[in-house]
Amino acid sequence: MSVEATDHYSNCTHCGFCLAVCPTYILTGDENNSPRGRLRLWSEEAAGKIPRDEWTDFYTSECVGCLACETACPAHVPYGELFEHTRHDHVATHRSHPSPAIRLAAHAVTHQSLFNLAMLPARMMRNLGLTPHPFLLPGKPALLKSTAGYARELMRAKKPTGPRVALLTGCLMEAMFRDINFATVRVLIENNCQVITPENQTCCGTFQEHTGLEGVEALREQNRRAFGPLDVDAIVSNSSGCGYSLAKTLAPNKPVRDVLTFLGDLDLKKREPRSTTARLYVDLPCHLVHGQKAPGIPANVLDATGIPWALAPNAKDCCGSGGVYNLDKPENARAILSAKSAFLNEAEGDPVILGTANHVCMMQWHSAGATGLVTRPYEVKHVIQLLDPGEGFALTPV
Ligand code: SF4
Ligand code: SF4
Repeated sequence: MSVEATDHYSNCTHCGFCLAVCPTYILTGDENNSPRGRLRLWSEEAAGKIPRDEWTDFYTSECVGCLACETACPAHVPYGELFEHTRHDHVATHRSHPSPAIRLAAHAVTHQSLFNLAMLPARMMRNLGLTPHPFLLPGKPALLKSTAGYARELMRAKKPTGPRVALLTGCLMEAMFRDINFATVRVLIENNCQVITPENQTCCGTFQEHTGLEGVEALREQNRRAFGPLDVDAIVSNSSGCGYSLAKTLAPNKPVRDVLTFLGDLDLKKREPRSTTARLYVDLPCHLVHGQKAPGIPANVLDATGIPWALAPNAKDCCGSGGVYNLDKPENARAILSAKSAFLNEAEGDPVILGTANHVCMMQWHSAGATGLVTRPYEVKHVIQLLDPGEGFALTPV
């Protein structure tokens, strides 16, 4: 799409409804750092009314990409599409310069086998409980066995007969957080779903979308080939950002659902209540509610965790993770997280669990404790992990 060729900018009526939900406007009070301001910069630049200077790129790069403005906009301005296009344009024309580390990471995620190998030390560190980086969550990922291999084993052992479900295993999810993928496979199979993990799937392209780097269309095409021909009842993702990206890739032919909203339609197996004192605070990832437009995580799914739960304060507001935003703009990301996570210091419960549905948000929430924003102990979990029958499920008879 050529931004210049669209009339989407003119859809903006300058009503300002988007300002109150924009984390960077709330942070800075700067109109240029708001959705309306960015739209005006892009539109006036496209019309030749202002010079193509560094400020438009600066304010574009300040955007977290949370899409809260799309939800708030009564004129249905497709902000996310325009933002993505502008990011790519700024990188392609050398107005924006992603760091070598970001470029290397964007390249690495497109070669899943090599990326899995390169991330082996990180999986080992998580396994050993060594988490030297604030984003590195503790966990027990398999070192060598893949999610696809695990799903095949469990399918053979359990022989589920229900809905056929194709699972997006993701790049970082598979390389670093495959313990969450394994839990997802167990939960689906325990609920009688037949899990299919197409071997030729690849990264969804979110990394490239966020950074403006090239290569996104090749990834999308590979995923169209991997998922498009499948005869399944659902394609699901356990990462709201990846699910949103894959949904755009496969639209309109193959709907993609977040695994938690998919499970909400089933007569879900419930976990036994584990503790009367535990409390689960649920945060809703931006790309679940503003991207996929899901109303939230279904209440029956949260009830099935067996843990008393409540929505976190301002649950639909951005936590500041924004794909790689917390690496690119760490000060902004920390300021956004600071406001969002403050409630944890006073939250009731023992243990206190912060539950969400996106691994990038999980890393961001974990960093609140690791960097001193939250000073009391708390756990960060993907909600699917709270539904998990556990590794022993593989050994139990059908
Ligand atoms: S995507 Fe989020 S950060 Fe960017 S302009 Fe919209 S509300 Fe603001
Ligand atoms: S809410 Fe929509 S129409 Fe109103 S100022 Fe923001 S982008 Fe423009």
